[in-house]
Amino acid sequence: MTVASRAPAHIRALSPYQPGKPISELARETGLPEHTIVKLASNENPFGMSPRAREAAIAALDEGARYPDGNAFALKAALAKKYGIDVNQLVIGNGSNDVLEIATQTFLGPGAAAVFAQYSFAVYPLATQARGARAIQVPAKNYGHDLDAMLAAIDDTVRIVFLANPNNPTGTFLPGNEIEAFLARVPQDVLVVLDEAYTEFLPPAKRYDAIGWVARRPNLLVSRTLCKAYGLAGLRLGYGVGNPEVIDLMNRVRQPFNASIVAQAAAVAALEDEAFVREVAENNQQGMLQLTAAFTALGLEWIPSAGNFVTVKVGDGAKAGAALLEQGVIVRPIAGYGMPEWLRVSIGLPTENERFITALRKALS
Ligand SMILES: *Cc1c(COP(=O)(O)O)cnc(C)c1O
Repeated sequence: MTVASRAPAHIRALSPYQPGKPISELARETGLPEHTIVKLASNENPFGMSPRAREAAIAALDEGARYPDGNAFALKAALAKKYGIDVNQLVIGNGSNDVLEIATQTFLGPGAAAVFAQYSFAVYPLATQARGARAIQVPAKNYGHDLDAMLAAIDDTVRIVFLANPNNPTGTFLPGNEIEAFLARVPQDVLVVLDEAYTEFLPPAKRYDAIGWVARRPNLLVSRTLCKAYGLAGLRLGYGVGNPEVIDLMNRVRQPFNASIVAQAAAVAALEDEAFVREVAENNQQGMLQLTAAFTALGLEWIPSAGNFVTVKVGDGAKAGAALLEQGVIVRPIAGYGMPEWLRVSIGLPTENERFITALRKALS
């Protein structure tokens, strides 16, 4: 008998999350200098973070020997003001990944279940199974969520439904009115976690106000992050907006100091720099056109995406991904998501996108 062999069966059955390869790792493996490597594998912000956020983060280092404010007073005040909500509707996370984890810790356990779509975010099955709960994966429709099928999958063991909008890794988008209609049909005792990690990238015509729905939908938890459009991926900061009773339970479960002093300070400053986020979103629209036009010219199928990434069918994703790595370009093969013929590519700066396109052409020839 070993310690590992005595771990619960549901823990032993977990398959680890497969992150994008870090630049430093590829540099070690290939000998390529780090500054020549282009990483378009983790939907990171190619502009970095807002200069104001960076300044605030650096200033916060002076307080680094102190515990952070576990109640995140300043950050919650900023978010409450931004959305016209109460601070008791907010839970702060170490990235929105943490918000998803806390939701499963709070509401799932053995005998319970969570529903999510095929080709959706890998953390949903992971976080569900880590709680000893059952993961119910509902077949996708055109690579996106099939809301009717997801509704039909809800039985009395289901406590959480995960909806990513836009979805990752496919980038598919559900209009707000379809989500509202879905919410109206979900049983009141089932929490809908609406994961809006990419919502800042939506063009104005696609926007909807899910946070505004929370007041009349006590079973809705909207999950947002500053890690993508705001560029705080490495600092880690996410938040959930929900009904005070739901939030209260989640705040009991989370680690007391789950958001660092640096992340909280950067987040407050980042929220004040809306112009930065607008610029990021505009670059994203242009980069999306740049990549998808190149895919079309190469005769490659791609999935229209509302995120800061796009998924393209290359035949053998692992092989193409490896051929790109040799050229110093990191993208994400998504065989782990059940899409072995596809690559997911994050939108970069125009020059990075061009590097990727040139390398892809070579990889496929
Ligand atoms: C990236 C991502 C997240 C989590 O990102 P954090 O860095 O933890 O905020 C959550 N959901 C989806 C769908 C994502 O793609």
